[in-house]
Amino acid sequence: MIFHPKTKTPPSCLEKEKQKVNGSYNCPGVLELLKKDFKNKCYICENKAPHSINTEHFIPHKGDKDLKFDWNNLFYCCAHCNNTKLAKPQFDSILNCTIESEEVDRKIKYHIHPFPKEQAVITALSGEAKVNNTVSLLLEVYNGTTPLKKIESGNLRSKLLKEIRSFQDLLFKFYDDIYNEKERLFFKDQIARELRASSGFTAFKRWILRDNDMTEDFVEYL
Ligand SMILES: [Zn+2]
Repeated sequence: MIFHPKTKTPPSCLEKEKQKVNGSYNCPGVLELLKKDFKNKCYICENKAPHSINTEHFIPHKGDKDLKFDWNNLFYCCAHCNNTKLAKPQFDSILNCTIESEEVDRKIKYHIHPFPKEQAVITALSGEAKVNNTVSLLLEVYNGTTPLKKIESGNLRSKLLKEIRSFQDLLFKFYDDIYNEKERLFFKDQIARELRASSGFTAFKRWILRDNDMTEDFVEYL
């Protein structure tokens, strides 16, 4: 999970839908802007271009029309993460990735060994209840709970592990002295692209740098 600044002005269709008896918050303007603001990534697992997308209510609306049509309460989420979050009331209170001061990728550490069948290790770096709830949610998302969710999580981790291996490969090349300065700059550009908010599983990639004393070379991208 990383910070995603959200467009301040709600899409115009949202207020119009709110006025209708059976209006839908899933109007085209909302979906387009959520996709853009969240870089077409699930905000919880950071899977890029997920196959199944849900418009999630960060705080469950429970029939409250204001919460149901509140632009600040609408998030871009994959079905796997949305279902996992809905399963436990404690997940109603997690860090909000659209608020920069919540520091979602600094209060939580993300780690996985690039090896088949490895589990993700998610660690709280602060004692806040919201941080602990977020960590519990992320552990369930990446490692699974029910038999069905374990299969979904396994598929998610396969994609994550492949991305981490490619990212590590770029880092090895960048630090390998067989390459000249021009070649190293080329690798640095590719690494920078992987550290952007629009890249998949960005929090895991940023933590590889923080964990391995490589932040100095990429400080402007962290
Ligand atoms: Zn997800």
